[in-house]
Amino acid sequence: MADTLPFQAEVRQLLDLVVHSLYSDREIFLRELVSNASDALDRARIAGLTSSDLKPAEGEPGIQLEVNRDLGTLTVRDNGIGLTRAQAIEHLGTIAHSGTKAFAEALKQKGASSESLIGKFGVGFYASFMVAHKVVVHSLSAEPGAEPVIWTSDGTGEFTVEPGSREARGTAVTLHLRSDATDFLDTFTLKNIVRKHSAFVPYAILLEGARLNDQQALWVQDPAELKPEDYQAFYKQALGEWQDPSGWVHFRAEAPLEYQAVLYFPAERPFDLDYADAKRGLRLYQRRVLISEKSDEFLPRYLRFVKGVIDAPEVSLNVSREILQQTPVLRSIKNQVVKRVLRRLKEIGRDEPEAYTRFWENFGATLKEGVAEDRDNLDAITPLLRFRTTGGDQWRDLAEIKAAMKEGQSELWYLTGLDLGRLRASPQLEAFRKKGWEVILLTDPVDEWVVMHLTEFDGVTLKSAARGELDHDDDPIAEEARKQATPFAEWVSELLADKVSKVRPSQRLTDSPSVLVDEGHMSSNMERILKATRQGGAGTATRVLEINPEHALVKRLVALHGEGNTADAEPLARLLLDYAQLAEGHVEDVTGLTARLSALMLKAAGA
Ligand code: ADP
Repeated sequence: MADTLPFQAEVRQLLDLVVHSLYSDREIFLRELVSNASDALDRARIAGLTSSDLKPAEGEPGIQLEVNRDLGTLTVRDNGIGLTRAQAIEHLGTIAHSGTKAFAEALKQKGASSESLIGKFGVGFYASFMVAHKVVVHSLSAEPGAEPVIWTSDGTGEFTVEPGSREARGTAVTLHLRSDATDFLDTFTLKNIVRKHSAFVPYAILLEGARLNDQQALWVQDPAELKPEDYQAFYKQALGEWQDPSGWVHFRAEAPLEYQAVLYFPAERPFDLDYADAKRGLRLYQRRVLISEKSDEFLPRYLRFVKGVIDAPEVSLNVSREILQQTPVLRSIKNQVVKRVLRRLKEIGRDEPEAYTRFWENFGATLKEGVAEDRDNLDAITPLLRFRTTGGDQWRDLAEIKAAMKEGQSELWYLTGLDLGRLRASPQLEAFRKKGWEVILLTDPVDEWVVMHLTEFDGVTLKSAARGELDHDDDPIAEEARKQATPFAEWVSELLADKVSKVRPSQRLTDSPSVLVDEGHMSSNMERILKATRQGGAGTATRVLEINPEHALVKRLVALHGEGNTADAEPLARLLLDYAQLAEGHVEDVTGLTARLSALMLKAAGA
């Protein structure tokens, strides 16, 4: 009995786009179907490693293209894992999958044109409807006891599923081609499309008895013989990516430990990079046989953006994950992989600065986790770091920042905070601006951990511009002003005793009347991050209010206080704290501030 079911709303939208877009590169539908077939073969292989009751494949694992010119159909047939009825409904009726999902996300996020996105991401199985007015899928799952199923749709609102009659495991997708798509019945055209888009698919792709793809595994080939196009093609065709990578590294180790790897740096940040439960890792082969699609044992977390293939025949897989992590073979391969990746990134940073900048903007925040996580490789990670500074809009590395240090400057200074705009405007930087010292501006939450672990670079200490007292200038006038302001500062200290740990005359201000600085272990930025991630209670920042003894307002308050007129001085003294908080972008006592402001405004208006 046939059941008619509606597509999920998102699929309907997607189909509408696919069918009506005048996308010029329609041939990619074949790449999508072949890559699904190849995935189905991979899955059958991997399932077969652990389960013995799967239906075996008939014949060699492979993919066949069949053309029927009389009926105007093209069929893509595989003897892979197949689909059960429930899977056909779920997988071919909803969007829950990698490629298609990334497409849907990208469409939502950027409002980019659907055409460019179809080319970039592919829309998986649904791409069939660019060329077909009707698609029929016959499938039999390899799972024991599964029944054959037929899935049919014309790509509008619905699809039907009914019992099928297939006897061998696998899937056949038959496209009834639209009248404007009959060139896809042509053998020559199909051959070219497969050579162009699917050459690295690791299973035989047959058409009329001839094999169309003949590339051997890329990783066993000699890097000297390979061209950039080969690596790019492999990335798209074997790893199922949609865009060219931003870089790659290919290395091979012989005795005593044999392995080969081709690793890639993607061009864009995947939307799920920070999802804790996203599966990621390298495709693990042993002597060219796929063992696992995602093996995360070879890379540390901070390199989780790396994609690629590793062929490591000596890694013993018949042990539990926990034991595997500890085996010397795996540990030593992992160490070498990390070193090669870091070294390659350094080369790209040196030789291809533009490509590296793009890489950094996508993955810098992730790579920085390595500063805290991987102390052993800190020296290799440090040169990869790039920073924004007060010195301009360029990304700079620490060597450049160090080279730009001014006379009299003995430390590298940084400031952490919410965003660049606020940091650049921060009163904390006034003294640095006056001296012409460059300050590193840090806005990623992970930066707080970075500066905790990166306390020194090439013999120079890294220091927070927002912490502690700055060194005295040898300016006698300033010194005198500070001395005069001290009793006032002490009085304000008592006034604000429950809000700040101390009030003192500042060395770091030129224009602003006041600023808050950190003292002690934790920075206020760190405290804010911990609060935002609900890890509150981990401590509170100790803060000092610094006042600018040369500012006209502070001078006036010092005088008022000196005359014993504390009644007039008090509301304004409290506003010094409000001001400092406002400059940072978060006021704690909003009610108090509005009351003080309105009193002040009334007074100023003479009311
Ligand atoms: P994606 O390939 O990005 O996951 P698709 O829309 O191309 O998305 O396919 C959806 C799902 O349908 C696949 O993930 C897979 O589970 C299933 N599927 C598609 N083609 C086949 C096939 N030939 N054999 C088995 N399952 C398939």
